Amino acid sequence: MSERTIALVTGANKGIGLEIAAGLGALGWSVGVGARDEQRREDAVAKLRAAGVDAFGVPLDVTDDASVAAAASLVEERAGRLDVLVNNAGIAGAWPDEPSAVTPENLRAVVETNVIGVVRVTNAMLPLLRRSAHPRIVNQSSHVASLTLQTTPGADLGGVSGAYSPSKTFLNAVTVQYAKELAGTPVKINLACPGYVATELNGFHGTSTPADGAKTAVRLATLPDDGPSGGLFDDAGPVPW
Ligand code: NAP
Repeated sequence: MSERTIALVTGANKGIGLEIAAGLGALGWSVGVGARDEQRREDAVAKLRAAGVDAFGVPLDVTDDASVAAAASLVEERAGRLDVLVNNAGIAGAWPDEPSAVTPENLRAVVETNVIGVVRVTNAMLPLLRRSAHPRIVNQSSHVASLTLQTTPGADLGGVSGAYSPSKTFLNAVTVQYAKELAGTPVKINLACPGYVATELNGFHGTSTPADGAKTAVRLATLPDDGPSGGLFDDAGPVPW
């Protein structure tokens, strides 16, 4: 078994995921770069390695059972366990996204990646996480997932959304159920809200950098044993549900 802390970040070839991988790598951890496209994955691994990170590529499409099973096998062969899983991969889906305009195909695609993909990867990795002394799972949520904020008059959450925002609310709900199931075990699972970050997901319209957007996930990935589980957080602390 590896002495180093082993992390896997999904969707780590660009955007916030790449910066989470860099942040965890800077702690001296070994970081699996989960990404579906071979070239983009290898480019990200090369970039991280050039920055001194012990990075390795993990072919991973979160919507594909066989790909996820193969990723779990790769991590097991390499390290024998997994200490930290960051479920960061996500898609915005097609536009328009208003409830009256969203297509069933788009809704299905967004839920398949943003919710079912997280469940698929988490369940495949849990046996490896249970071998860790301090297992942590971080799911990438969003302020737009908060029904409290969505129903607060004047809250600035971008456009009306019938697929993306509800998919993250669904993810929050599923994560709370994982936390209840895993209570009493060393596994902590929490949700991160990265803020409005300039990435391909929003056509680079976000107002903060991917490095800033990675901070909450990195903090939740490094929680001490007396840290919270089942919470929704941003840089400033708890976010209302
Ligand atoms: P991004 O730059 O578009 O990155 C998304 C990542 O997810 C890419 O690496 C992408 O890989 C990967 N991905 C998508 N579908 C995948 C699949 N089926 N299998 C494996 N990987 C897949 O966007 P980002 O802004 O960094 O988003 C990262 C996370 O933060 C997402 O969950 C997003 O919802 C969340 N978030 C972002 C913001 C924001 O303002 N940007 C705000 C709140 C939450 P490819 O390169 O192969 O497409």
